[in-house]
Amino acid sequence: MDHTLTYIQTELAEARTRLSLLREAFQIQPCADELDAAGHLTAVHLAESCATHSAERIRGLQSLLDFLRHGGSPLCEDCGEEIPLARLLAAPGTTRCCECQQALENGEGGSAPGFLAETSSTQGLAGNY
Ligand SMILES: [Zn+2]
Repeated sequence: MDHTLTYIQTELAEARTRLSLLREAFQIQPCADELDAAGHLTAVHLAESCATHSAERIRGLQSLLDFLRHGGSPLCEDCGEEIPLARLLAAPGTTRCCECQQALENGEGGSAPGFLAETSSTQGLAGNY
């Protein structure tokens, strides 16, 4: 657990450094001509979306850190099971476990085809007797 905490703290520090670097890019610099200004504007927009992503990651890691420090684990908002740590580290701030997230992305009844295929093969075997 200590190792995980250290890992998250390192991740947090890196994300914060990245964010502060990106914020420096927001500073409007005096531009000599319009072409430079346009290029700078594009860079600012890019930095802006990166900064938003970094800020979200920081929030997610921070809440994960709080959960771990209190000896708890975030629960899936759909099935109420603990969300695996590996998933939380890969996608900080996630509120669902892998299964529920996949079910959500696939729509309702995502596991039905596999179940049906298994059932029909069992029936085929039974028919041979
Ligand atoms: Zn779930």
